[in-house]
Amino acid sequence: MASRKLFDRIDSFQLENVTKKYEEHFAVKNLDLEIRGGELLILIGRSGSGKTTVLRMINRLIEPDSGSISVNGIDVKEFDPIQLRRNIGYVIQNIGLLPHLRVSENIGLILKLEGWEKEKTMKRVEDLLNLVSLPPQIFMDRYPHELSGGQQQRIGLARAMAMNPPLFLMDEPFGALDPLLRAQLQDEFCKIKKELGRTIVFVTHDINEAFRLGDRIAIMDNAELVQVGTPEELIFSPANDMVAGIVESKRKYRHIDALKVKDMMQSLDKRYFLHSDLSAALALDHMVREGLEVILIFRNSESAGRIYLNEVLKAVPSGKTLEEASKPLLLFAPDNSLLEALARLKIEGESMGLVLEDDKPAGVLFSDRVLQNLI
Ligand code: ADP
Ligand code: MG
Repeated sequence: MASRKLFDRIDSFQLENVTKKYEEHFAVKNLDLEIRGGELLILIGRSGSGKTTVLRMINRLIEPDSGSISVNGIDVKEFDPIQLRRNIGYVIQNIGLLPHLRVSENIGLILKLEGWEKEKTMKRVEDLLNLVSLPPQIFMDRYPHELSGGQQQRIGLARAMAMNPPLFLMDEPFGALDPLLRAQLQDEFCKIKKELGRTIVFVTHDINEAFRLGDRIAIMDNAELVQVGTPEELIFSPANDMVAGIVESKRKYRHIDALKVKDMMQSLDKRYFLHSDLSAALALDHMVREGLEVILIFRNSESAGRIYLNEVLKAVPSGKTLEEASKPLLLFAPDNSLLEALARLKIEGESMGLVLEDDKPAGVLFSDRVLQNLI
C-alpha cells in the first residue's frame, strides 16, 4: 500500500488551547502556539515542563484532553494516525535503532513498509547517508552497536528523513552527546536544515543550542507557555524573571571588547590529534572509529594543521600522508583579543584556529560558534 502524502509543505501549524492532564496533574495547560511554515521553533524548559508531551500530541502518539491541533487548517484528528506519523519525521534522544538490523535496513525500514522497490530504497539510503556525512560504503552494512553515539544519532536523523517529511519533531536529539560532538552535529544540522527548508519543532534544555539553531524560541514552565519570540525579543524584552534568568547568560557576551580567546575556546581531547606522518588511510580508520568530523595534525607547533573527514576520504586513494593532505591552522594564544582573533580568521577564510599555551594545544576557537554565542 503506497501512502498518501498528507501535505507537501507546512504553511501553518496551530495549537489552540491544548490541555493534557494525568490524573489531576497538568502535563500541558491551555497551550496556544503557532508554528510557522519553514521555521525552526525551539521548545525549551525544565525537565517535566511538558515539552515531550507537546511533540507527542502533534504526531498523535497521545491525544489531548481538550483543545485542537491543526496543520494547514486541517485538524490532525482528520488524519489516520499512522499515515500522519509517516508524514512527520520524529527524532528522539535514544533513537531506538533496531539492534539486529543493519544501518541500511534501519534507514530503509519505512520505505520497505511503504512498498518501495529494493533498488530505489538502496539509492535513497545512500543519499541519506551522504547527507548526514556518513560514507555509505563504510556504514551501510554496520549494526547499531558498531557505531559511536554521534553516528547513531545521525542514522536516526537519516531515518527520520527517509520519507522526506515536511515536518520534523526533534526531542533533545543531541542531548546525550559530548559537547564537541554536539556542536558538530548542530553545524551539520544547520546545513541540512537550509538545504531542506523544512518546518521543525526542536526540544532542548540547552539555551546555547536554542540560540544557535532557533528561528524562534518558546519557553515552557510548569505545563504552560511563558513566552515565545526571536532570540533578540527574549533578550531585550523577557516576559518575566524566569525568562530573564534563562537568557542572562547571553547578555554578558555583549561586552565583547573585553573578551579573550580563552573565554570562547573549546577544549579538545587527545582523540582529535594525530601525528603528521600518518597515512590518510589510518586517519580515516581512526576518524570513523571515533566518530570524528575533523582532526588536528601535529608534528610540532609550526606544522599544526587540520583536515576534515571528506578531505581524508579524497586523500586515501593517492596514499598521501596527513602532512601532505592537511591545511595549516591559524594559531592563537589564550590571552589574544577575541575580536582580533576573529578578524584574522575572517581574513584567512578559516572557520577555526588552534590555541597554544607554552607550545601545547590548549583549545580550539570556532568562529561561527563564537558569533552564535554573541547574540
Ligand atoms: P518534558 O519533556 O518537558 O521533560 P514531559 O512532557 O515528558 O516533560 O512531562 C510533563 C509532565 O507530565 C511531567 O510532570 C511528567 O511527569 C508528566 N507525565 C508525562 N507522561 C506521563 C504519563 N504517561 N503518566 C503520568 N504522567 C506523565
Ligand atoms: Mg522530554
